[in-house]
Amino acid sequence: MVEPNQNTWPQLQAKLSVAFNESEFETYFKNASLKKWEGHQMVLEARDPFRRDWMLGQSDRIQKALREASQDADLLVSFMAPSEETLQTKWVVAEKLVMPAPLEDRLTPLAPNLRFENFVVGSSNRFAAAACQAVAENPAKTYNPLVLYGGVGLGKTHLLNAIGNLALEKSPDLKIVFITSENFMNEMISVLRSGGDMKLFRDKFRKVDILLIDDIQFMVGKESTQEEFFHTFNDLHSQGKQIVATCDIPPREIKLDERLRNRFEWGLVADIGSPDFETRVAILRKKSESLGKPVPQEILEFLSSTFTNNIRELEGSLLKIFALSSILNREIDRALVEEALRDALKVHSKPVSVDSIQEAVAQRYRMKLTDMKARKRTDAVAFPRQIAMYLSRELTSSSLPEIGSAFGGRDHTTVIHAIHKIEKKMKDDPQFSGDIESLVQEIKGMR
Ligand code: ADP
Ligand code: MG
Repeated sequence: MVEPNQNTWPQLQAKLSVAFNESEFETYFKNASLKKWEGHQMVLEARDPFRRDWMLGQSDRIQKALREASQDADLLVSFMAPSEETLQTKWVVAEKLVMPAPLEDRLTPLAPNLRFENFVVGSSNRFAAAACQAVAENPAKTYNPLVLYGGVGLGKTHLLNAIGNLALEKSPDLKIVFITSENFMNEMISVLRSGGDMKLFRDKFRKVDILLIDDIQFMVGKESTQEEFFHTFNDLHSQGKQIVATCDIPPREIKLDERLRNRFEWGLVADIGSPDFETRVAILRKKSESLGKPVPQEILEFLSSTFTNNIRELEGSLLKIFALSSILNREIDRALVEEALRDALKVHSKPVSVDSIQEAVAQRYRMKLTDMKARKRTDAVAFPRQIAMYLSRELTSSSLPEIGSAFGGRDHTTVIHAIHKIEKKMKDDPQFSGDIESLVQEIKGMR
């Protein structure tokens, strides 16, 4: 083994400069140091906690390069950051030299068009929308923090902006900050990089009345960002300021530092689910009206039954249709829609039919297909039948009476009853909800 001396680190750096590109080397390794090397243990000290986090993310590559450099296949490399005190002095000294650009320059302004007025409320988002409205009307008086949780493209960012826009309308003097978690991190890094003082950064956030922070799942694995956000959170919360966060992982499961996750659980977590068929149609109608171009109901329903769980995709389909319609100067009809969405439709294939739903459900629950339409009411057939009715409503554009008739001429109230029953069970029983989700995937796959 090589005995470390003062040339050791420069030699290792030389190897790292080959294994990493120039900007990586300059940013992360040039200003790092070799803290310890004993036996198979090597400790590198990064310039600051952010660079340490980056190194942790690249630890396989770094370790590989250093194993080669040291010719020790068992070498274990770990990473540390300077202590808080060391950092403080570094920053205070550096602050005198360079001032970071004002925080205001890096904040995302609120999107003026993302408002409550154009947010369509349905059963999947009613609770979340109401909670957001309450918070916008009475910041820090109701739910604090408020965490919006839901899958991609279901309206989290829209609601976050809507809160900001409404609150500002009510009290134009409020200081509202909207920032993504990614920009929160970038902001800190740039303050550090420019030699600025973290204290100034913190002070700026302290003056905020409402902090809207988007996509906190981005902080997973980024300890220093979490740490910094934790302080920001505490500062604001203790001063009675409102915090609203969004997240696409259930807050209870998100892998954040325990203390921080705990903070998010102090307030209210509001879920946003996938919109049902009616809500999807209503969203498209509103969007097409706002773009000044009404679209035939039949087309709205076709799109809503094709794009079932992501609103962004649903809206995107409408925009493509509008674009093609104006390029070709043609009316929006089924042929135009198919032309505009050729690629997307390939992925989504044709809309699901009630028949294919009945088939899949019968198979899953080991019942005869004919029992879907039979009069029998034993639990063994009635329950799967209700599931199939529910899925027919969710995944196809069939009306309630049409669904009723496909299930042996049942009344539409029977269908409504089935839908409510399944919806309730899905809400109460996560396992069941998971089963249904997997059925949906299966049905979509088999078309
Ligand atoms: P997320 O942040 O959850 O990924 P977004 O808020 O960006 O989703 O929403 C995706 C798109 O769908 C946006 O254009 C948004 O305006 C629109 N959208 C989502 N939900 C609704 C709704 N309920 N009513 C109207 N538009 C919606
Ligand atoms: Mg978003």
